[in-house]
Amino acid sequence: MQEISLDQVDPSEYDVIVAGAGAGGLLTALALSAEGKKVLVIEKGDRVGGVWHGYWVDGFRVDQGLHVITRVTRGAFVRFLKTYLSPPPEFILHDGWDFRVHDKTGTIPSSIGETLRWPLAGWRGRLGLVKIGAKIKTMKLEEMKKYKDISFFEFMQSRGATHQVTLDVMQSAIYMAAGVPITQASAYESLRTLKDTDKESSKLGSAKRLLLGSHDYDEGYVIGGMEGLVKRV
Ligand SMILES: Cc1cc2nc3c(=O)[nH]c(=O)nc-3n(C[C@H](O)[C@H](O)[C@H](O)COP(=O)(O)OP(=O)(O)OC[C@H]3O[C@@H](n4cnc5c(N)ncnc54)[C@H](O)[C@@H]3O)c2cc1C
Repeated sequence: MQEISLDQVDPSEYDVIVAGAGAGGLLTALALSAEGKKVLVIEKGDRVGGVWHGYWVDGFRVDQGLHVITRVTRGAFVRFLKTYLSPPPEFILHDGWDFRVHDKTGTIPSSIGETLRWPLAGWRGRLGLVKIGAKIKTMKLEEMKKYKDISFFEFMQSRGATHQVTLDVMQSAIYMAAGVPITQASAYESLRTLKDTDKESSKLGSAKRLLLGSHDYDEGYVIGGMEGLVKRV
């Protein structure tokens, strides 16, 4: 990648012009240039990466934005990186998420049983989570499309899922994935994220996932962090 200022650019020299050097723009440019296109990426800010960048706190590296990669052993994003980056990046799996409410910490429950025993919420909060969790995990992807024009908060309201603990848990999960509050996050995208599979499953399959939890969990980090990846792109 070569950096140039806009006044030196002759757009007619390029096959493709990409607006924005966030993850989307950079990876699009990476794929197109690997396919032989001459690509110009225009960035209005003073650095590349968009929300995808990092900083240091007390000697620890913090990656912001895209940092945990879902389906790191099977997903499209990892297949993409392995296709277009040589040598391919290496990944390390992590064992799951911890949740902190004031001074209590617990893992994110993945089944009805775990939710009902969750130490971080009272019984009303747990029941609220079980109810809305069951609805989302068993919802057909086709049905989710009905919620394209409303926010996730409006979806929760329409389902009567307004207990504060339920909203707080959903807010944390969605903020982590989308970087916006549930009042701004698309209900459709949030539902797809929370269902955590792009495959339709039978009623029996969904019920099993709810009762026993999901065993499809494979999230991980790229070794060297996302900024290392941006530099390589
Ligand atoms: C706190 C947080 C945590 C996240 N965690 C994860 C995670 O763990 N896993 C995951 O998969 N995803 C995560 N995400 C989501 C992921 O980071 C984003 O979806 C992704 O990085 C967005 O990339 P983008 O290129 O679409 O947009 P952006 O990163 O927003 O990039 C857009 C770029 O375009 C530039 N731009 C805008 N307008 C113009 C213009 N007119 N001309 C030129 N340039 C322009 C901007 O300056 C910016 O650099 C997280 C997001 C946040 C905020």
